[in-house]
Amino acid sequence: MLGAFSPQRRLADFVLGASAQPCPGCGGEPPERGHAYCLGCSVELRVMDRVDALGLEQELAWRMPVVSVHALWWAEAGSRAEALYKALKFGGRRNLGPALGRAMARHRERMAPLPDGLVPVPTTIQRTWSRGYNQAHLLAEGMAAHKSLPVYPHLLQRLEGGRNLARLGRNQRNEQAKRDFVQGRTLGGGPYRTDQRDLKGLHLLLVDDVMTSGATLEQCGNLLIRRGARLSVMVLARRRNRI
Ligand SMILES: [Zn+2]
Repeated sequence: MLGAFSPQRRLADFVLGASAQPCPGCGGEPPERGHAYCLGCSVELRVMDRVDALGLEQELAWRMPVVSVHALWWAEAGSRAEALYKALKFGGRRNLGPALGRAMARHRERMAPLPDGLVPVPTTIQRTWSRGYNQAHLLAEGMAAHKSLPVYPHLLQRLEGGRNLARLGRNQRNEQAKRDFVQGRTLGGGPYRTDQRDLKGLHLLLVDDVMTSGATLEQCGNLLIRRGARLSVMVLARRRNRI
């Protein structure tokens, strides 16, 4: 929870405004001013601890060399964490991005060293236009603002025409992710931009909203590692089946 007069709280007030929209986590009463979700949701959300983070790290470590892997919440089917990340991803609740990004940064800084920069998992230009934003980019901006770190949104690119990874099995996801994500490149005009900077020795934090199979993180992470970066990962929520 943010202190009533903290700068973060004032910033959250500014970003969230006096929204009268229902709580995006439970659909109940609007959250208190300056908060992204209601008190009931904050009690119900399952925040990851250090042991959980080590488990996540082991899960990704055999697929690519990682410095650290963190998630803010566990997200089971039907959970409030799931409702929150879906509200940001599909529900147009864009103002959740910066606020949840700051919560991710505060959570991570207790356990891991600061990176040199943040890299949001890219989405396609088409999807960014239809949605109006890339939710991973909003989260990364929120995280970066916490310590004035740079965000590098054009190192990677997601190609148009890929299939929705959420509808594929694990093996298919890996294959599809390999085709979908590439190094950022100039495609001549339009909104495409590219960032070819030297990443050697840079400690980059790859940021996404949700980790399911890890195929997206693995592909994006390996692209950055191949350019010489040291890699950490942070997601808002780790999806898992109900236990
Ligand atoms: Zn709620």
